[in-house]
Amino acid sequence: MPDGVSWKEKLLSAIFPARCALCGRITRGGRRVCARCQEKNPPNAQFRRLEAGSSGLEVFCVTPYVYKGQVRKAILQFKFRGKREKAAGLSEALVLALPPRWQTADTVCWVPLSDKRLRERGYDQSELLARKVAKEIGRPCRKLLTKIQENQVQHTLRREERKKNVQGVYRADGGQIYGKRILLIDDIVTTGSTLGECAGELYRAGAAEVHCAAVVTAIGDGNHEF
Ligand SMILES: [Zn+2]
Repeated sequence: MPDGVSWKEKLLSAIFPARCALCGRITRGGRRVCARCQEKNPPNAQFRRLEAGSSGLEVFCVTPYVYKGQVRKAILQFKFRGKREKAAGLSEALVLALPPRWQTADTVCWVPLSDKRLRERGYDQSELLARKVAKEIGRPCRKLLTKIQENQVQHTLRREERKKNVQGVYRADGGQIYGKRILLIDDIVTTGSTLGECAGELYRAGAAEVHCAAVVTAIGDGNHEF
């Protein structure tokens, strides 16, 4: 097709018009965040420096949004109320926040749920984000990390407890990691313990470079509802 849109995509967008990831209204021209929400919640790339587990290294994490208002509502729906279609709009914002160099990573991966949690929820929200991001930037997406232990839900814990709570909980699986530049995706970054631990695991497995990206940053009192 001359305009680069396949008949299949045209048909799908006629049946399922694009909806704004934040307010849910139908948007024009296939946009994933409507103009009104874009204006109210402008994506603003913020960088945080995280400790990469116990590796002694550091990683940077970029987030386009702060966890509040409409964005917070959208994340809660995406994560807990089965609204998996939100992945499209939220990952679009993620891609916009990525520095150009990070977009040339060898592989995109994500912070995985445990098998048990995945069965309960039916989908892994961070995997959905990672797959969309990978497609958008034209890089492969692979499951490089496995959650090998159930732990307490992070948001119930204080900062210092969070760090301990994630130690040894994730395992990176070797072959595709050594010498690679990896982009690690999650939905929310709070204290950064989980992303940091996963990044540390990737470094331990020989990754050359790890960069992190999450949709929202939520720093503070630990009383967030997620
Ligand atoms: Zn909207």
